[in-house]
Amino acid sequence: MTLTEKILARAAGKTRVAAGENVWVKADILMTHDVCGPGTIGVFKREFGQNAKVWDKNKVVIIPDHYIFTADSKSNRNVDILRDFVKEQGITYFYDVIDDPNGHWVYDPKKGNLKRQYGSHYAGVCHTALPQKGHTRPGEILFGTDSHTCMAGAFNEFATGIGNTDAGFVMGTGKLLLKVPETMHFRLEGKLQPGVMAKDIILHCIGEIGFDGATYRAMQFDGPGVASLSMDDRMTIANMAIEAGGKNGLFEFDAKTKAYVDERCKLNKTQSNYQPVERDRDEKFVYELTVDLSKLEPTVACHPDPGQRKLAKELGNIKLDRAYIGSCTGGKTSDFLEFARVLQGKRVAIDTFGVPATPEIVHDLQTSRWGQQTVWDILLAAGVQMTENAGCAACLGGPVDTFGRMNSPMKCISATNRNFPGRMGHKESQVFLASPATVAASALTGKITDPREHLPN
Ligand code: SF4
Repeated sequence: MTLTEKILARAAGKTRVAAGENVWVKADILMTHDVCGPGTIGVFKREFGQNAKVWDKNKVVIIPDHYIFTADSKSNRNVDILRDFVKEQGITYFYDVIDDPNGHWVYDPKKGNLKRQYGSHYAGVCHTALPQKGHTRPGEILFGTDSHTCMAGAFNEFATGIGNTDAGFVMGTGKLLLKVPETMHFRLEGKLQPGVMAKDIILHCIGEIGFDGATYRAMQFDGPGVASLSMDDRMTIANMAIEAGGKNGLFEFDAKTKAYVDERCKLNKTQSNYQPVERDRDEKFVYELTVDLSKLEPTVACHPDPGQRKLAKELGNIKLDRAYIGSCTGGKTSDFLEFARVLQGKRVAIDTFGVPATPEIVHDLQTSRWGQQTVWDILLAAGVQMTENAGCAACLGGPVDTFGRMNSPMKCISATNRNFPGRMGHKESQVFLASPATVAASALTGKITDPREHLPN
């Protein structure tokens, strides 16, 4: 069996499963957020009754993150609906925007969108917050009401996005009927060259198979090249499995996975026992691709979909209006460090927005020093508009007052994960997906630029 099949077999209580089989699996975690949470709660109450209780109050994790820092009252109200539900159900893990369990969330536009407006429990973007808060464990099943839930596959778990109806059912029963996906195999060999990042790996793979090339399939990443990738790198790759239509993305378990997961579970006092899955000799794949990481170059997915692969060096004729770094995929600490390495001591030529994925990342950047300056200050000095309000921000457009949203037709290079028309705001805008290094180099020149031309010595 493949890694995905092994996890699903275990969760279904079977010794074997095969691709195409339908099986009932037990969920280990159900995650929802402010956009889909209220709808999921509505389905749950409609189907199970107004007084029904969730199947396990320790396994439903609620993380508001999407439409948070906006004056849109309906968006603010969604966070209140989540808080009311958490109180009613006694749910353990709720990462509220405010500290008062009886309060109401109201964003104050007068304070501006750069200074922190959240309380001490807020966790930021759900997919980055889940591992940081100790909710991703090898061998487990994670369902989330968000397509990029597949990011947790970095931790050797089966993680996939589901709709509100399925999530309402999981909320009530802890189970879901799943068709076992076929598995595509991506064997990584070699090591990335300077200026090339994990984002380039996944953009390369999606470019090979197209934005629907993995539809309802598992994407398994393994091979000797994985060892050199950090957990942040693996998250970037697994996150974008859905950009090829994948059901899930999955990495092998190793010492790095163990170190990360053990530390985070201990720190947050979450469940610390887990059982990883290892590779079998009899894996059956429907597709195989070997990627020599040392041969990859800075890669861009052009408008209008993540499969439009080109090399950054081929796109110097594309003039940009904006650069953006952020999201679950591209707003991690390591992403900002590489971004800052390219920008240090220089000045951006176009509007450039920086949105860390979580408050912990804001803290990392504000406390990491390179010489006399913090990384945060280096980015400010380079002209980047950095917000402390960690969240999804303009990654998915959002209400018109969302930080970094494109409210007019423009071209943007972005470290985010999706670029279908209208994704970051105006439907005639164009988004070019790239690594944080390529976004930084392009911000310096105002056109798409290979970061290897701008690396420090
Ligand atoms: S940052 Fe973007 S991709 Fe990630 S969860 Fe938020 S909207 Fe989705």
